[in-house]
Amino acid sequence: MGSAGSTKGRVDHRSIVAKLRADILVGTIPPASRVNIAQLASQLAVSTTPVREALRELQGDNLLLGTSNKGYETTKTLDAQGVRALFEFRLLVEPWSARLAASDSLRNPSPLLRSEIQSFNSHARSMQQEMIDHDSRFHTAILQSSENSFVLDAYQRSHCHLHLFRICGNDWDWEASLNQHGKIADAIETLDPQGAEDAMKEHLQFSYLGFLNYVSEASGSRKLSAPAPARMVPGAHA
Ligand SMILES: [Zn+2]
Repeated sequence: MGSAGSTKGRVDHRSIVAKLRADILVGTIPPASRVNIAQLASQLAVSTTPVREALRELQGDNLLLGTSNKGYETTKTLDAQGVRALFEFRLLVEPWSARLAASDSLRNPSPLLRSEIQSFNSHARSMQQEMIDHDSRFHTAILQSSENSFVLDAYQRSHCHLHLFRICGNDWDWEASLNQHGKIADAIETLDPQGAEDAMKEHLQFSYLGFLNYVSEASGSRKLSAPAPARMVPGAHA
């Protein structure tokens, strides 16, 4: 018949990578578990070679680890310590880049930030996906405007939105986040460096506590209402 061969021809590398990435992000392939390459190949009606190539690529996102027998296992989702480390990093670079964005009228990213906020779809099928995608584009636009390739590269290598997506629930307070993005965009648009820096710090601390609650709920700990640790307080390292 040759029908299996023609099916194989239609599944290209990009779509295999996208499918496996989505399976890991939504937990269809659970965290910290071995990846069954033969089973995935059979599901996708391809040989194991393109599956292995896709898995190798996903290692770069820090979603997979190679195992000693040439296999792969998914990484754990972030725990409380991982969330803190990620937000400590973000608090170092993002308030700085927001300040810089508000200091330079030529590289001011506010038109981009405005259109990003306006195009947010509050009726999206998955608010979790809509919020994470919007958030990723919004924060990246501010960092990009710094034109500092080392900072941008470090931020992109953290794959922070991929990792936050894995722990984020559907009950994320996207309205509060959107309002905070509005405050940041306002300060950048009106060339208010201090206002932009403060608004970004406030927003990251709000997000930090939100994500910390997700991981403490997942591990069965009490829901957090306490303020962020002293090392995360705005201005503490200024
Ligand atoms: Zn945000």
